[in-house]
Amino acid sequence: CKIDYQAPTDLLKDRVILVTGAGDGIGRAAALAYAQHGATIILLGRTIAKLESVYDEIEEAGWPQPAIFPLNFEGATLKDYQDMADTLHKEFGRLDGILHNAGLLGRITPFEQYNPQLWDQVMQVNITGPVWMTQALLPLLKASQDASVIFTSSSVGRKGRAFWGAYAVSKFATEGFVEVLADELENLTSIRVNSINPGATRTQMRKTAFPGEDPNTLRTPAEIMPTYLWLMGPESQGTTGERFDAQPPRQ
Ligand code: NDP
Repeated sequence: CKIDYQAPTDLLKDRVILVTGAGDGIGRAAALAYAQHGATIILLGRTIAKLESVYDEIEEAGWPQPAIFPLNFEGATLKDYQDMADTLHKEFGRLDGILHNAGLLGRITPFEQYNPQLWDQVMQVNITGPVWMTQALLPLLKASQDASVIFTSSSVGRKGRAFWGAYAVSKFATEGFVEVLADELENLTSIRVNSINPGATRTQMRKTAFPGEDPNTLRTPAEIMPTYLWLMGPESQGTTGERFDAQPPRQ
């Protein structure tokens, strides 16, 4: 358990790290924390104004200059992922980390009423898109000395819960994919692949899922960063195919 990890300030010095869903919530906090620890961040998301605000915050703090990569997982094609890989190859030549964080809740609703189009959207954003993006970016990860790929799971990706529908299924798929890819790349490459379950965290998604809950009882995204830092940094070398919790289970 790495929830008390204290990262050295130069933990991610000279690393190039892609963060998806970097404009809000946990992704925003991770982009800031990684930049603060020396990384050049590629801020990926679908709302450019939000990405620009993270960009500005990083610049004002004097951390390495980030880059903005607008992409919507709904509607993104294999060609978009390939174009992205080509652009990143030209700009950086390698990728030292990916935090797959972008996520869509869909609806908390009885399965009988689950809308099939919404189901497909949730699967697209939470697992299918990230899978094909990862395939396109593998050559860039292989070009790194020490690459870390982190996927984002959830407690409903480990134990199903009524009404959570496609969201829960997509997180089970995420944990399965992490095991498959980690097993495949182990011994062949220096790429490690793991997942983090952030646990209940004070974001818009959590508020939508639990509208009656007092947000002040929840940890903030910034407070759960130790695990995100440890898993992205060199101290987690050799750890692959594992799942982590970014905070202790709630009472
Ligand atoms: P938020 O809703 O606050 O942020 C989600 C991010 O994903 C936003 O930046 C959003 O962009 C982006 N995103 C959503 N859809 C797309 C899309 N189609 N294409 C590109 N980007 C997209 O959620 P959290 O920060 O709470 O969640 C982050 C991750 O953590 C998710 O994977 C979630 O499932 C997981 N998680 C969160 C928990 C919590 O308690 N908060 C608990 C367990 C897991 P935009 O802002 O432009 O909409």
